[in-house]
Amino acid sequence: MVGAGHNGLVAACYLARAGLDVEVVEADTVIGGAVSTVERWPGVRVDRGSSIHVMVRHTGIAEDLRLDELGLVYDDVEPWGVLPHPDAPLRLSSDLDATCASIEASCGAHDAAAYRDFIAEWTPRMRWFLDVASRPPTASWLGRRGVSLMRRAGKPADVVRGFVEPAEAMLARRFDDERLRGALGWWAAQSGPPPHAVGTAPMAGTAALLHLKRPGRPRGGSGRLSEALAARLVSYGATIRTGDAVTGIEPRTGSVSAVVTRSGERIASRAVLAACHVTDAARLVGDDVARRAVRIGDGIGMVMRVLADRLPAYRVDVPGVHTAMQLLVESPDQLRAAYGDFLRGEASREPPLIVMTPTADDPTLAPAGKHVVSVWAQWHPRHLRGADWDSERERVGDALLAAVDRWAPGFSSGVVQRFVQTPLDLERELGLHGGNVMHVETELDSLFGLRPLPGWSTYRTPHAGLYVCGASTHPGGGVWGASGRSAAAVIRRDLGRRR
Ligand SMILES: Cc1cc2nc3c(=O)[nH]c(=O)nc-3n(C[C@H](O)[C@H](O)[C@H](O)COP(=O)(O)OP(=O)(O)OC[C@H]3O[C@@H](n4cnc5c(N)ncnc54)[C@H](O)[C@@H]3O)c2cc1C
Repeated sequence: MVGAGHNGLVAACYLARAGLDVEVVEADTVIGGAVSTVERWPGVRVDRGSSIHVMVRHTGIAEDLRLDELGLVYDDVEPWGVLPHPDAPLRLSSDLDATCASIEASCGAHDAAAYRDFIAEWTPRMRWFLDVASRPPTASWLGRRGVSLMRRAGKPADVVRGFVEPAEAMLARRFDDERLRGALGWWAAQSGPPPHAVGTAPMAGTAALLHLKRPGRPRGGSGRLSEALAARLVSYGATIRTGDAVTGIEPRTGSVSAVVTRSGERIASRAVLAACHVTDAARLVGDDVARRAVRIGDGIGMVMRVLADRLPAYRVDVPGVHTAMQLLVESPDQLRAAYGDFLRGEASREPPLIVMTPTADDPTLAPAGKHVVSVWAQWHPRHLRGADWDSERERVGDALLAAVDRWAPGFSSGVVQRFVQTPLDLERELGLHGGNVMHVETELDSLFGLRPLPGWSTYRTPHAGLYVCGASTHPGGGVWGASGRSAAAVIRRDLGRRR
């Protein structure tokens, strides 16, 4: 197994539980990839990548692997989102009635009713998506599930249009209030593509998932999920080797594949699962055509990690604001403008932000009286025009703090430490090429049976004995685990057949 990101660890757990002899080789000294938490400053635990777990909570993986016995405790993120707009505060919670009441108070009865319709329409579509996400995206599986969706979820043409139209257009058709459209469009943008792009309506539709199950935050940080998976894996008798990268993959000859490691070892195996970025898998096996064909884009966003002596005090008080994702966005126009800056190769001048304040609920992350605050901002290209991130880092960090101050005056004066995690840093520290937190673009040409490429999409590859999983593969990026579990099932089936 190449890589101990959470998807790789999930795959390894299912293979080891089935009795296979599993060895995981991880290049980093920290396990978990973008689902990891480190001591960034003495006594302060800070996530390196993800913080909020949405999709994995729908998979049942944590329950199936009994990760609670190994210290994984989720705190619900409820409400899941708050727009602390002084004129139109929104409190978006898993309780649909409560969310509609909040929308009605700030945006009027029309938008509250429209929100109820929006969730009613997207709930069956999202249940369908969860189902499709749980298996390899073969043509026959997608075909069968596609027919079932058309039967259950409305007129076929409406369903197809619903999946391919831009989020911005879909939201404008439904809602009058631009602050509500801004907040939902900003949520839709979390996979990277801007809400005005074709095919982004389903990203907005994922709001329906938040009414089916509350998102969660592992107590102790996002990395507690990976730590529990690693402990479960070891309990099944597998080994995890950290700090020793795979430097080459030898496809199968006879019945044996192998990996070669930086430490000079050759590990022979009946199958190799590359749970790393797919361009790394292609490079390691010497497939330059595949490596060049994968579309990774030029970055999505960046984060500022802060240790502060206070929580952001917004101009309006919304109950639960510091538990929620704080959606700091004015309107759909702000999203368009930020994307325009990105296209020009510039850091967004007025970036929409998601602020997260985990220490409001989790005292284990920092000493008493101090708060960890994460500020996620889009869009930020990996390659700046006429500049580089090493020289721009602190200037852009100042701009992010100024943007938080516009919503929560005085916050920046309480900052004690900060780490500005640019797209370049995401690439350097986490191996996220092009700074893409989803590995591969989440666009129509890289989804389902096209993710990451035709021929590599069902966890098998054109190279005998080499399999892939992770954010690069179906169902894509985010804290999921689904690709790891599905890839393990494919490998078990193939090894069973060969035996
Ligand atoms: C800043 C940030 C914020 C995010 N926020 C969220 C969020 O709140 N919610 C959410 O759902 N998602 C979020 N994401 C996305 C999510 O974290 C990722 O999509 C997901 O973690 C990818 O997991 P993975 O296991 O597929 O791959 P990765 O986490 O990329 O793991 C791949 C592993 O492979 C290892 N590796 C690579 N090459 C080699 C090699 N040659 N030899 C050995 N090992 C190798 C790497 O070191 C790494 O550990 C965020 C990501 C980032 C970066």
